[in-house]
Amino acid sequence: MDRLTTTAAGTLFGIHGEPAHERIVLATDAPTGLQAVIAVYSTARGPAFGGCRYWQYASDHEAYNDALRLSQGMAFKNALADLPFGGGKAVILRKPDALDRTAMFKAFGRLVQSLDGIYLTAEDVGTTADDMRAVQSETRYVSGIPRSGDVYGGNPSPRTAYGVFIGLQAAVDSALGRKSLDGVSVALQGLGSVGWDLCERLHQAGAQLIVSDIDATRTARAAQMFGARVVEIAQIAGVEADVFAPCALGGSITAEVAAHCRFKVIAGGANNQLMSLAEGDVLHQRGIFYAPDFLVNAGGIISCVREYLGSAEEASVLAEVAQIGPRVFELAGRVSATGVAPARAAVAWAREKMVAA
Ligand code: NAD
Repeated sequence: MDRLTTTAAGTLFGIHGEPAHERIVLATDAPTGLQAVIAVYSTARGPAFGGCRYWQYASDHEAYNDALRLSQGMAFKNALADLPFGGGKAVILRKPDALDRTAMFKAFGRLVQSLDGIYLTAEDVGTTADDMRAVQSETRYVSGIPRSGDVYGGNPSPRTAYGVFIGLQAAVDSALGRKSLDGVSVALQGLGSVGWDLCERLHQAGAQLIVSDIDATRTARAAQMFGARVVEIAQIAGVEADVFAPCALGGSITAEVAAHCRFKVIAGGANNQLMSLAEGDVLHQRGIFYAPDFLVNAGGIISCVREYLGSAEEASVLAEVAQIGPRVFELAGRVSATGVAPARAAVAWAREKMVAA
């Protein structure tokens, strides 16, 4: 169970040394150029729900492994959020050549439809509400679509950011005994949909921000609007701060970062922050509280699920997302009781819920 994340070696049937995935679909559609992986890790709690990533990978294997890891993370995330869904994820391989994007996402919609509802999709990194509208023209197994005349639904990022903020607050309270974020320093990596929203919330709460992004216009704006200190992308994990909030892509917490970072708490929006559970153990041994990504970034999937089920009012969704706070405290209690590092304790907790279902 050591290979939670980026270094995970994908086998034909799943992640090396882990329970196999239920289904892994590789699909191409020549007319549109679609090349996709849909990985269904578990449907124990219900149909596998998880977004669709559109990304340019160094190799097909990297894309395959990403789908495996992300789908496993979705199973843990949905279980810990008490959602009646299993975990799955789709990855569409982005090519440098220009494609008819709408036609390709329609082809992806037909692929999702062909799975008869065992997998439900939504936005993830690289995909937009317009892409999901194209998917929706071919299948009803999709969420994250804005509704006209109704602010609810659509882009889940604001709800993700809200949940990360709540989780970060709880982690700081639990680990540092600080009830307020006023004066707490936060190093935030990635000022995209989630990271920017989180930045705004942290600034309003009085946190001191240190930021990095590959996009210099975003960091310049953060400096201007939030008084954030900007550092190079290679430096953010090495700065000294109370909190590290990874909100870019996965794999920020390498062995090197785990062994040498100068943070007290880690809580952020990015999926698959740890290279493996071993890095989580090192953080724990060093007294750094890591609030697992799949626990604190569940706001977006909660939003998509409630939209999909048609059972959502904004206030009730936010109340459900706010439950991330008490869950961080419960995790901290489990860590104190067992001595097991938070990442491992959270995986065990999620598996309990999957087995119980
Ligand atoms: P996004 O693409 O809007 O933002 C990512 C940001 O990270 C961009 O500003 C990009 O320039 C920056 N970035 C990329 N590489 C970087 C690097 N090496 N250093 C610093 N910055 C870098 O994506 P997003 O929707 O904000 O998602 C961010 C993370 O949160 C992803 O890991 C995603 O899987 C996860 N997540 C997102 C949601 C959601 O609702 N959007 C939900 C759950 C998890």
